[in-house]
Amino acid sequence: MKILVVNCGSSSLKYQLIDMNGEKALAQGLVERIGIEGSTLTQKVEGREKYIIKQPMASHKDAIKLVLGALVDNTNGVIKDMNEISAVGHRVVHGGEKYSNSVLITDEVMKALDECAKLAPLHNPPNIIGINACKELMPNTPMVAVFDTAFHQTIPEHAYIYPLPYELYNEHGIRKYGFHGTSHRYVSSVVADMMGKDIKDLKIITCHLGNGASIAAIKDGKSIETSMGFTPLEGIAMGTRSGSIDPAIITFLMKELNYSIDQVNDLINKKSGVLGISGVSSDFRDIEDAAWKEGNKRAQLALDVFYYKVKKFIGSYAAVMNGVDCIVFTAGLGENSPEVREFVCEGLDYLGIKLDKEKNKVRGKAVDLSVEGSKSKVFVIPTNEELMIARDAMEIVNN
Ligand code: AMP
Repeated sequence: MKILVVNCGSSSLKYQLIDMNGEKALAQGLVERIGIEGSTLTQKVEGREKYIIKQPMASHKDAIKLVLGALVDNTNGVIKDMNEISAVGHRVVHGGEKYSNSVLITDEVMKALDECAKLAPLHNPPNIIGINACKELMPNTPMVAVFDTAFHQTIPEHAYIYPLPYELYNEHGIRKYGFHGTSHRYVSSVVADMMGKDIKDLKIITCHLGNGASIAAIKDGKSIETSMGFTPLEGIAMGTRSGSIDPAIITFLMKELNYSIDQVNDLINKKSGVLGISGVSSDFRDIEDAAWKEGNKRAQLALDVFYYKVKKFIGSYAAVMNGVDCIVFTAGLGENSPEVREFVCEGLDYLGIKLDKEKNKVRGKAVDLSVEGSKSKVFVIPTNEELMIARDAMEIVNN
């Protein structure tokens, strides 16, 4: 069975065609600048040159038409006919409180997604546009929605309620939802396999550290706490996002420094985090270079703030779970920066965590990094949200 996985942004679309027989990605691609001058599709197939198409794409429907064309292309494609695609799995950012699992997309689901759009105004609308475009072009192919929020729907009430007037939750849905759920779910299932244990017997802390970053506490196979909240802005400092700050800073900016709502939004989403502190970049490679090769003090401070925030979450999640059996690092930074793993794990011996510095030199592979015999374990595991989406789509279609 072959599953197409689609992740639609406002002007971009990422896709993978996965053969579930062996769970192998046959092709992966990216369409950029949809609706903007310079639209480009880039498709990668193992062992071949990149296939690049540059042509105007006014809409997501144009983009998906081109994706399907690239997949069946005589010389650059990987399938003969579109009908070989058994299902499409769509990444959807927000499922609100309605969805704690992936679902087959029906008219009723589409209505619910529209209702959730107010909770994720930047993310859900392009997801919906992508689903509609696929439905038009592949009317007989089942479509499945896989939500970033779904895995965190098991977080207990005392952890998801904000200390605000209760009506704001009741009437407007203001509560913690959490994001990156597909990634936290994937790496927690892989780590249980690697440890040879039932996930229900483990206390796991997963650290998804990329441009966006979140940490989750997973007990008995369920997410019980996570660092992102009502939106993906809460939690640890990120590439350009502030993470949690004193909310009074916002009113101070508006009252004393005359910031508008848009300016505040721009500041905390796009100009803060390690970019804001360092003034160098949002990319950790640039910040590490500036700190360690050029001695840039603000770059070093940005790294120190980041390590400190991650460590604080790990400590608090060990507290809420009454211990931890393993910590997992994943996503761009977690998978590729041995230094981040080393500095975060420094001083966690009280939790039984001992990182083996030799093993920690690894990048981009699933490895147990713990010193032999240490009480709790630390792992690096490359995330694979696309595979998780494809697995969900296959399961739903088969049932
Ligand atoms: P993601 O959002 O998961 O794609 O992660 C992207 C981020 O990972 C980039 O912004 C970098 O900061 C970080 N990253 C990727 N490769 C490396 C590396 N070799 N060393 C340090 N950071 C890296």
